[in-house]
Amino acid sequence: MRRVFLSVVLFCVIALPLSCVPRNYSRTEFALGTVVQVTFFANRVDSDEVFKKLFSVADKYERMFSSKRSFGEIYKINSSGGSVKLDGEIYELLRHSDYYYKLTKGAFDYTLYNLISLWDLEHLKASPLSGAIDEALVHSGRDKVKFDKSFIRLTDGVKLDFGAIAKGFILQKLSDTLKDLGIHDFMVNAGGDVILSGLYQRKREWNIAIKDPFGEKEFAGYITLTDATIVTSGDYERYFVDETTGKRYHHILSGESGYPAESGVSSVTVISSDPVRADAMATALFVMGADSGLKLVNGITDVDAIFIKQDGSIATSARISQESRGGRLFFIRK
Ligand code: ADP
Ligand code: MG
Repeated sequence: MRRVFLSVVLFCVIALPLSCVPRNYSRTEFALGTVVQVTFFANRVDSDEVFKKLFSVADKYERMFSSKRSFGEIYKINSSGGSVKLDGEIYELLRHSDYYYKLTKGAFDYTLYNLISLWDLEHLKASPLSGAIDEALVHSGRDKVKFDKSFIRLTDGVKLDFGAIAKGFILQKLSDTLKDLGIHDFMVNAGGDVILSGLYQRKREWNIAIKDPFGEKEFAGYITLTDATIVTSGDYERYFVDETTGKRYHHILSGESGYPAESGVSSVTVISSDPVRADAMATALFVMGADSGLKLVNGITDVDAIFIKQDGSIATSARISQESRGGRLFFIRK
C-alpha cells in the first residue's frame, strides 16, 4: 500500500509539471489558395482535431467567398442577373467591403471582378487591349450594387470580387475557432497574412519578419507584436512579364485606370487589431501609394502601415518608428 502511495506521489511530482509545460503544435496545409501555417502553444490537446476543425472552417469560407469557385455564394450572386437572398455572413463581408470602399474612395474596390478576370495573370502574355479594359470599367462601380440585410441586386453587368478582404475575414473566423477551443497563444499565417494572439511559447510576443520585395536581403525588417494582424500586399508575388516589352504586370488593380496600380510602392505592410481592416487597407494603401495612403492612415484609428517604395525608401505611419540593431531594421509600434 505504501509503495502504491509513494508511486502515486512520485507520478504527480514528475508528471504534473510536465503536463503544465505548453507544447508547440504546428501544421502547414494548402488552403485559401495559398500555404496556411498554424502554430499554437497549449497544454495537451488533441491537435489533430484542432487542425481538422480549423482547416474545415477555412475551406467552408473559401468556398463561400470565392468569385471563381462555381456554386459558391459569390459565384451565385455574380451569375444571377437579378435579386439574390443574402446569407448573414455574406452580408457582413459586403458591409465591411462597402465601408472600406467609401473610406478609401474606391482604392479598395470590391466591384472589379470583370477587370480582374480580364487580367488573368496565369495565362496572359501581354496587357489586355485598352478597349476591353474600358469595357470592364464600364461594368464596375459601387453605384451598380444595391443591397440591404436580406437581398442584393447587381445591375449593368457588375460582378463582385472579395479577394482583397476575404482572407482577413477568414483569419478572424480561424482566430475565433481557436479561442472557442480554449487556445489563446497562436499564429495563423495564410500566405503572409498573419494573425497573432497571446505569446510565443507563452513567454514573449511574436517576432515577425517582413519580406524584402526586391529579394535582395533576407528580410526588409522585423517587428515584435501580438493580438494583431499583420498583412502585406505587394507587387512581387503574383505577376507576369510581357514577353515583348519586358513590362511587369501585377495583381492589384486600379479601378481608375484599369491597369495594375502604379503608385511607386513595392509593398505595404499593415497592422491592425482587426484582420478585416488589415487586409482591406493593405490592398487600398498599395493602390493609393505612400503619400495619400499615410495621410489617410494617420487620420484614422487602428491601422499602422509600412510602405516600401520602388526606390527602396521606407515610409511609416506616425505610430511606427524605425531602429537599426546589428545591421537589422526593427519597426517599433508606439
Ligand atoms: P493577396 O491576395 O496577394 O494577399 P490582396 O489582399 O492585396 O493580396 O488582394 C489582391 C486581390 O484582390 C486580387 O487578386 C484581386 O482578386 C483583388 N483586387 C485587385 N485589385 C483590387 C482593388 N483595387 N480593390 C479590391 N480588390 C482588388
Ligand atoms: Mg488585402
